[in-house]
This record gives sequence, structure tokens and C-alpha cells, in this order.
Amino acid sequence: MADRSGKRAVLGIETSCDETAAAVLDLHGTILAETVISQFADHAPFGGVVPEIAARVHLRYLPSQVAHVMAQAGIGMQDLAGVAATTGPGLIGGLIVGCQFAKGLALAADIPFLSINHLEAHALTARLPSLTGGTADFPYLLLLLSGGHSQCITVRGVGRHERLGGTVDDAVGEAFDKVAKLLGLGWPGGPALERLAQSGDPNAYPLPRPMLRRPGCDFSFSGLKTAVAHLVAAGLTDQARADLAASFQHAVTDVLADRATHAMRMIRERHPQADLLVIAGGVAANTAIRSALSQAAERQGFRLLAPPGRLCSDNAVMVAWAGIERLRLGLTDGMDVAPRPRWPLSDLAGPSLAMPARDAATRAAPHSGDDPAPHSGDDPAPHGGDNPAPRSGDDPAPRSGDDPAPHSGDDAQRVGAG
Ligand code: ADP
Ligand code: MG
Repeated sequence: MADRSGKRAVLGIETSCDETAAAVLDLHGTILAETVISQFADHAPFGGVVPEIAARVHLRYLPSQVAHVMAQAGIGMQDLAGVAATTGPGLIGGLIVGCQFAKGLALAADIPFLSINHLEAHALTARLPSLTGGTADFPYLLLLLSGGHSQCITVRGVGRHERLGGTVDDAVGEAFDKVAKLLGLGWPGGPALERLAQSGDPNAYPLPRPMLRRPGCDFSFSGLKTAVAHLVAAGLTDQARADLAASFQHAVTDVLADRATHAMRMIRERHPQADLLVIAGGVAANTAIRSALSQAAERQGFRLLAPPGRLCSDNAVMVAWAGIERLRLGLTDGMDVAPRPRWPLSDLAGPSLAMPARDAATRAAPHSGDDPAPHSGDDPAPHGGDNPAPRSGDDPAPRSGDDPAPHSGDDAQRVGAG
């Protein structure tokens, strides 16, 4: 499909945390080319993402990644209808790299620049035609489970989201990473912990299930992590390590299924027609969690949509797609947009949030310009930028590992985007 001027694709760029990604989608949302470079090796020696290193790696790889996807898609700049880049929330250094690069391309080609909220990009992935054939109608429930975010969100429309609940301390991926580190599994630990759990007994250790059956759909994982730390400190055999990994995963799975069930009931109360639960974020790759959420969804009469792993974790396909959704509504952005390390989804909703749901689902709100004071709570609050205590020099600020700092809100101590 081409628009009236013959433009036929959108370029997406993602640099908010530790993935350097670019993708080209045609205006229907068909993926023409995509690439992701994960920076695991660059950060692993530090046990977590180091913001300064992340920004430099983005700078090193982004130009060639963009050239690569353009060539693979077989298009030139003159074919692009817009350039979309994640401009928040995330690590300020990486956001600046991606945002400025995208603006430069948009200026040079005289095409629209699209400023994308990373959380909204995750939220809208479900509407990629290749995933659902266009059946993900608003409103639906998003359960975002990443290293940086654990949130239940009602997705009511482009730019129209409502946070139902989220973590009060660690994000779920962060809890996996910290427990994996306690078990000596390196970083990032989620996939390694899942592998170890396969040879363990999930009922071996009766670990706490924080927030289980509490009203609402908030999560908490720090107490569970502490319980594991005490058991590790007492000394473990190899089999006990596997049992503990399996028991931890089982506890997290129970909590997520319970919280998701509450969230489904909450969205149903407000939107009786809602019947879709979407999961996103790196932790959504976990088989036990997927399966428990699938059963929970079925019990509530919901469909579960779990995009393939590469579209669950950080990627640029979702950024390009969010750009297409916004472009269709005429929601382009000016060159004055600044990257926002903190950018809660609620800020996208604008003053019309109080509108009746029927109207709200079809209305979009622009999101450039004014930047209200940073929030806490549903605010992913990564390092840097407008952070009053910027990290520098000798403080590599890893987001997991042996960092004793307590976490608050939706990961106030942790970097990156989900
Ligand atoms: P972010 O960039 O915010 O950390 P991602 O969406 O890139 O988020 O996801 C990375 C997170 O997902 C890490 O915390 C990682 O440990 C976790 N993760 C990845 N795969 C799994 C898995 N199979 N089981 C549990 N956690 C996982
Ligand atoms: Mg990541």
C-alpha cells in the first residue's frame, strides 16, 4: 500500500535500553525488514545495564542497522511516509541517540517524525495485522512483564491508556534477574533460571506469594526475592538450587495468574465487551508463565495473545507499528520533542481521559510538547535525564545483581524500558 504521494513504509527505531533495533513496515503493518542487536555481552561483566555503555553501543550500531533494514526492505528514503523512534521512557543517553538520528532522517527526507512512547509501542503490538488479523479491537488488557516494567494496563485506543495496577517494588524480570544472580546464573538471568527450573521440583519450597488474592492488581516481588536469599545463604546442593529455581518460578507464576485474573475482572467491570488479554515484555517468553496466564484467561472468558518472543521483548517492529497507528490519525510530532526518561502512559491520555469509554476508544490524544513533572508509581523512572541524582563515572548503576538499593514504584531504581 502506498499513500497518495507514493510513500509506502515507516522506519522504526528502538534505543531506549539495551537493544539497538530498527525495522521497516509497510503502511498495512507488514514487516519488510527487522533487526535487533542485544547488548548482553557489553553489560554482562557489570551484572546489569550500564547507561553510558548502552548509549555508546547504540551510537556505534544504529546507522548501520538502519542502512541494513532499508536495504533489506528494498526501499529508499523517498519511500518512507515517516520515521518513528522511541523517545521515552528509558535511558536518556540511548533515547537521545535514537531520537536525534530519527529526527535527522526525517528532516533530510522532509517527512514526518513520530515520537513513540515505548510502553504504548508494547501495548499496540497486539494490533499488528500479522498477529491477530486485525481482531485486537480496543479496549483490551495488557500485562507488561519486563525487566523494567510490571503493569496491568487498559488499552482503550491510540494514546488512550489506563493503568490498573503494577509492581510496588521490583519488576518481575528484575526479580528473575536478582534471584538468578543469587543462584549463580549470571545476567540476564530469566532464561537461565527457567532452564534450571526444568530439573527442579516446583513444590519443594513453600515460598511466599505476595499480594495473592488482595483487591486490585498490584504486584510485589521483593519479599519473594528476600525469602530466596535466606535459603541461598543457608547453603544449597545442586538439586536444591534447581528446586529453589522451580519453586520461585512457581510462586511468581501463581502471583501473576492471580493478579491477571483480578485485572481481567476490573476491565470487565468498566468495559463488559473486553475479551482480550495481551502479554508483552521479556518475561512473557517464560513457558510456565504463558501457560498459567492462558488458563487464567480461559477461566475468565478471555483470549490470550502472547506475541512471539522477538516481538515481546524490546524491538523496533512495535515502534514502527505504533508510528503507523499514529500516522493514520495524523498524530505526527515536531522537531522540538525532547526524549523523556520518565513518561508514564497516563500522560498520553490528555485531558479527555474522563470521556465515556465508547468515545475514548476511538479518540487519540497528541503527546508532544509539554512535559509535566515526573511521576512516581506508574512511572518507569530510569536513570539520567531529569533524574535529580544522575549516575556518572564510577557508578555504573547496574539494574540487577548486587545492588542493595531498595526499589520502589514501578522500578524507580532500575533502568530502561520494557
Ligand atoms: P527490559 O529491556 O526492560 O529489561 P525486556 O523486554 O528486554 O525488558 O526483557 C528482559 C527481561 O526479561 C529480563 O529481566 C530477563 O531476565 C527477562 N526474561 C527473558 N526471558 C525470560 C524467561 N524465559 N523467563 C523469565 N524471565 C525472562
Ligand atoms: Mg531489554
